[in-house]
Amino acid sequence: MERKAFALGDIVEMKKAHPCGTNAWKVIRTGADVRIKCCGCDHSVMLARLEFERKMKKVIESTTE
Ligand SMILES: [Zn+2]
Repeated sequence: MERKAFALGDIVEMKKAHPCGTNAWKVIRTGADVRIKCCGCDHSVMLARLEFERKMKKVIESTTE
């Protein structure tokens, strides 16, 4: 399985957009669980790391380049 590289502060796109219509999320916590915050409405969700990697489509904006 392909591992996706992401880091704290990155903006990522998920496979499904948030109901508010935005599909850009900021990674605000990493570890065994990953917390992301919707860039459109500031709603945040916590996902297990594996679940996050499965649902994440790509990194839109990386803070580490
Ligand atoms: Zn939202």
